[in-house]
Amino acid sequence: MAAREYNRKRLFMGRLAYGDDLLNSLTAFVQEKGIRTGRVQMIGALQKAIVGFYDHKAGKYINCEFEKPMEVLNLTGNVSIKDGQPFIHAHVTLGDEKGQSFGGHLMEGTIVFAAEFIVEEFEGEDLIRKPDETTGLTLWEL
Ligand code: ZN
Repeated sequence: MAAREYNRKRLFMGRLAYGDDLLNSLTAFVQEKGIRTGRVQMIGALQKAIVGFYDHKAGKYINCEFEKPMEVLNLTGNVSIKDGQPFIHAHVTLGDEKGQSFGGHLMEGTIVFAAEFIVEEFEGEDLIRKPDETTGLTLWEL
């Protein structure tokens, strides 16, 4: 286990536009504000969604696509540095018309119907993502 301590800095509340790509728009927001470390949360609704499940043996994501309206019951994510740029890692819990839940790692291609987000910036040393041999993922170097 390893961890670093951070202080809270700025807090933003905002709304994405109809038709935005959820992950790309949130990423553009943090990059535009110069947020290098922080957290992201969001609730809303989607026109369609793509979430990933990491196949441990294959070392890659299997995508699961929902080509229909879905609620975002919760999006939780963090902001750190990957390839020199602020990068968002987010997971979503989605709900359908029957109240059933699905979820996974948020992928590009998830399209906003309505989205209310909160982004909090932390102050402290950059958290840098590096390839991890054990998992095949790009993890924080601590
Ligand atoms: Zn993930």
